[in-house]
Order: sequence, then C-alpha cells, then structure tokens
Amino acid sequence: MSFRNEYLKGVMERVIARNAGEPEFHQAVREVLESLEPVVEKHPEYIKAGVIDSIVEPERIIKFRVPWVDDSGKVQVNRGFRIQFNSAIGPYKGGLRFHPSVYEGIIKFLGFEQIFKNSLTGLPIGGGKGGSDFDPKGKSDMEVMRFCQSFMTELSKHIGADTDVPAGDIGVGGREIGYLFGQYKRLRNEFTGVLTGKGLTYGGSLARTEATGFGLCYFVDEMLKDNGKSFKGQTVVISGSGNVAIYACKKATELGATVVAMSDSNGYIYDKNGIDLDAVKQIKEVERKRIKEYLNYRKDAVYTEGCSGIWSIKCDIALPCATQNEIDEQSAKTLVKNGCYAVGEGANMPSTLEATKVFLENGVLFAPAKAANAGGVATSALEMSQNSMRYSWTFEEVDAKLKGIMQNIYKNASAAAEEYGMKGNLVAGANIAGFIKVADSMLAHGVV
Ligand code: NDP
Repeated sequence: MSFRNEYLKGVMERVIARNAGEPEFHQAVREVLESLEPVVEKHPEYIKAGVIDSIVEPERIIKFRVPWVDDSGKVQVNRGFRIQFNSAIGPYKGGLRFHPSVYEGIIKFLGFEQIFKNSLTGLPIGGGKGGSDFDPKGKSDMEVMRFCQSFMTELSKHIGADTDVPAGDIGVGGREIGYLFGQYKRLRNEFTGVLTGKGLTYGGSLARTEATGFGLCYFVDEMLKDNGKSFKGQTVVISGSGNVAIYACKKATELGATVVAMSDSNGYIYDKNGIDLDAVKQIKEVERKRIKEYLNYRKDAVYTEGCSGIWSIKCDIALPCATQNEIDEQSAKTLVKNGCYAVGEGANMPSTLEATKVFLENGVLFAPAKAANAGGVATSALEMSQNSMRYSWTFEEVDAKLKGIMQNIYKNASAAAEEYGMKGNLVAGANIAGFIKVADSMLAHGVV
C-alpha cells in the first residue's frame, strides 16, 4: 500500500475485501484515493461525514438474466448489469458495454470513474455504467436486435429520463442504441430522452458520434498549447479503430498531425503516409470487418498481429483509444524511450498504474481518461438538454460547446493540481476537481 493517510488506507483495504476478485475496480479506486490524500488533510469534514466510505460503494447494483434466441433457434443466455453508482449531482449517466470480458468488476470500475468524469464536465449528471458479456461481433442484425430487446425488457424497469440515462460504449453503437430505444418506447409507451447516442432522426444530437474523439483532441491540444506545443507536424499513434479512435484520428489530422497507426483486438496497421480514415471507416463502420483489411486499400501499409506492439512505433503523441490496461509499464517505457512526449487517454483507464507512473516520472504530458475523454458524456448531457427542450442545435453549436467544455476541464484540473501542490499532474488534478463537487453535494444531502 502506498498510502500515508491511515484512513484512506483503511478505505482501500475495505474496498479490496468487499469486492474480492475485481482488480480493475481496485485499480480505479486506488488511483482516486491516492490523489485525495492532500484533500482529506485539508478537509477532515469529508472523513467525518463518511463521504469517502460512501463514494466507493455503489448506490445500487442491478444484475439480470438476458435470454434470447439465436438464428438457429437455440436459446442463449447472457448476463446484464447496471450499476447506479452515485446520483449526488444528477441522474445516473454512463454507457453500456457489450463485450465478452464484461463482469461486475469492469462495470464497477467504469461506473466509479464516471462519477468524477461527469462532475468534471460541469453538467448535472451522476455516475453509472452497465453492459453485458454478450459479444455483438459475428452476430446478425436480427440476433443483435433480439438481444437488445431482451436486455431492455429488464433494464427499462430501472432507468428513465430523470433517473438514469445510458449511452453507448464498447460494442454499443448507433445500431444497438436504436434497438434499445425502440424496445423502451414500446414497453413504456413514452418517447423520452432515456438513452443518448440516438440516431439523428429520433432525438440524437449532432456531433455526439464525433464527441469523445474530438473532445480528446481538444483537451490534448489545450495541454500542448499550455506547454508551448501543438499537434501541427507531429506523429501520432492511436490504438483501437472504434468510435473514439476514428474521430480522434479525424480531429488530430485536422489539427495538423499525421496519424500513422491504428489497431483492433487482433492487430495493428502502420501506414507511414498517414492513415486513410475513409478506408478505416468503410472497414469498421460499414463492413464490420477486421483492421487487417486495410492492406486492400493501402499497399504500402504494414499489418502486425497482436495489440501491444503498436506502442513500439515511434511517435510524438500517443492516444490509446481501445480498452483498459492496454499500456503496461514496459510499453510506457518503450514509448518514452522512442521520444513520445504526450499521451492522451481516449479509452477508460488504458494505462496501468505502473505505466502512468512511468509517464509522470519522465515528464510526459499526460491527459488522464477521466478528463480527456469526458467529451462523449458531456455531449450526451447536451443531447439530454436538447431532448428536454424538444429542440436541436446545429453541429457547429454543439461542437463549440464541446470545445468550451474540454477547455474548462483542462483549466479546472490544472488549477486543482496546482492548488494541492502537484502542479502539472492532471491525474491528481482531475480526481480532485471531480471529487470536490460530488463530495460537497453529498455533504449537503446528509447521510443518504
Ligand atoms: P468501440 O466498440 O467502438 O471500439 C473499441 C475498439 O477497441 C475496437 O477497435 C476494438 O477492437 C478495440 N478493443 C476492444 N477491446 C479490446 C481489447 N480487449 N484489446 C484490444 N482492443 C480492443 O468502442 P469505443 O470506441 O466506444 O470505446 C473505446 C474506449 O473508449 C473504451 O475504453 C470506452 O470505455 C471509452 N469511451 C468511450 C466513449 C464513447 O463515447 N464511445 C466515451 C468515453 C470513453 P475489436 O473491434 O477487435 O473488438
């Protein structure tokens, strides 16, 4: 344990004992609690009121059976989750992940992170997350629809436009949100903004699809500018080739960088001339095929099996946009050795605690996920506002609001780091700035 503060050490020990076998959740809690040491020293009232004991415990965990019938007529049974973690500052808000690796510990870590991220956006949204161990890969549209309908049949009992508003995440894109929304509307006989990431014809917001990737680049751009640098002329490596990765690639390129590599869970492509994003979008968004197909579009590109090798490509800026713990200590050391001076986390918790330490100790400009990828949920909150008003803003209006929000998050995280004596440490700054607003609201609500 690396805690100086005995109270926080005790909280961490209880979290580990109560949530045995959930290492991702332990990792997410440890990072936040470590950042909070100077905060609880300055504000003992948080300890006295039990705020930290409460914040690590979800308000509600919903776990359910999801039976559905596959195309051969066989019954399949998956497991569904929704963790309503904290509603101190607004209705629960956070995505749904459909991936075979999903279990309670993954949803708990994501839900916990979401509390602080949502608070950082400055918008009134609490933290939640959900999902299933269902794998949409290789399933027909009708199988995905039957699964989504079954999943929503149970989930609909627990969510609502003013209660809990899910969105997409890994494996849940526009297609899945459409099926989930259709089933909710049918079951409840109401047309409300109960999900975000909806299609533009039925209440979705312009720029929501682009928001997480664009927001990541706006945040990193702010961090670079604050340090006398910019994206212009820089070489960038992006992991993943899903929603976040694709729009991070688009914005980084617009800002003058050359993105030379992208990946999926099978391997990565290297294209020294700069990634042809239209080809990636065709392969991933239209054909739902593997990134290896890129070789059919660009003869000069090179494909390599396996994911982690992508971090051995020389770059100035790395944007991990695939999944948790994709950069370990060794990969972080390799990036630093090859001259990478900035890392922006598009995925949730893509760097292990050891990797983060390597970046911080080597002076790498490090934009942590909670702050850097908050643009997705921020734009989801803008979608909720538009739904409430029965009104739509233009792409430019939403994009401008998103940019302003990301710039503010950067300012607030930087200021909190400086105030608590950790200037430049955005990990601590984001955790502290996100925590204080939620903690003060919990204090105001009493023991609930
Ligand atoms: P997508 O499903 O659209 O894309 C995920 C990408 O990551 C795919 O290329 C996928 O490859 C790859 N990937 C997934 N799991 C693994 C794995 N275990 N190892 C290697 N590669 C993997 O998801 P998103 O782009 O929406 O999400 C990516 C990350 O960003 C996640 O951490 C998510 O929580 C985070 N995030 C997403 C937001 C959003 O608005 N969508 C908002 C904030 C954070 P393959 O196709 O082979 O599975």
